[in-house]
Amino acid sequence: MSTLTTSELIAWISTAADSLAEHAAELTDLDAAIGDADHGTNMKRGMRAAADAVADAEFETPAALAKKVGMSLVSAVGGASGPLYGTFFLRFAQGAGDAADLDAEALAAALDAAAAGVAQRGKAEVGEKTMLDALRPAADAAKEAAAEGADITAMLTAAVAAAREGRDAVIDSVATKGRASYVGERAKGHIDPGSQSAVLLLEALQAAVGAAA
Ligand code: ADP
Ligand code: MG
Repeated sequence: MSTLTTSELIAWISTAADSLAEHAAELTDLDAAIGDADHGTNMKRGMRAAADAVADAEFETPAALAKKVGMSLVSAVGGASGPLYGTFFLRFAQGAGDAADLDAEALAAALDAAAAGVAQRGKAEVGEKTMLDALRPAADAAKEAAAEGADITAMLTAAVAAAREGRDAVIDSVATKGRASYVGERAKGHIDPGSQSAVLLLEALQAAVGAAA
């Protein structure tokens, strides 16, 4: 696959909405252990609202679509994850620029801008046991693969693998941002719910691209 069109991006959001609904109980269980047990509900509601908002619309550019997704997430989700994932998609839009569809380099640039937006909005760094621990390595792997000439399918394989590794790398850490920071040492041994939803979001993109290829 050499470029992503707006219809594949709509398929991404719809696949993500289905996946987050399917995994809502699992995400809520993760959040129950180190937070307030609402991450599954938040993500399920937010991604469904985003998918509904873009389902039957026409978009001239991936940026216009991502902006709509970002705004839907911000308005549909009250928890920390709403503004953070909202920022992810709003900054994805900025990173995508005016392109009518995205080649591997443009998609990597959009993912890079999106991860940088989450870091800025959450004042978070890698290693603090948040969604950024999946998103940042994924964007770095995407950039590296694109620079080496990978197509979008290969690039997303690398990005998803990096996201999973990043999520797993902080399982035994304490959290220093968000609600999970309140439980201190008790966070050790638990997967951060936001890092898991970030993996699901990227897996949905991979699945949507795979289905279109
Ligand atoms: P809330 O924490 O308000 O209940 P959610 O449960 O929906 O919201 O989302 C929690 C997730 O949000 C965490 O697992 C973490 O990945 C992410 N998160 C929380 N605070 C931050 C932050 N400052 N920066 C980045 N991610 C964060
Ligand atoms: Mg929560």
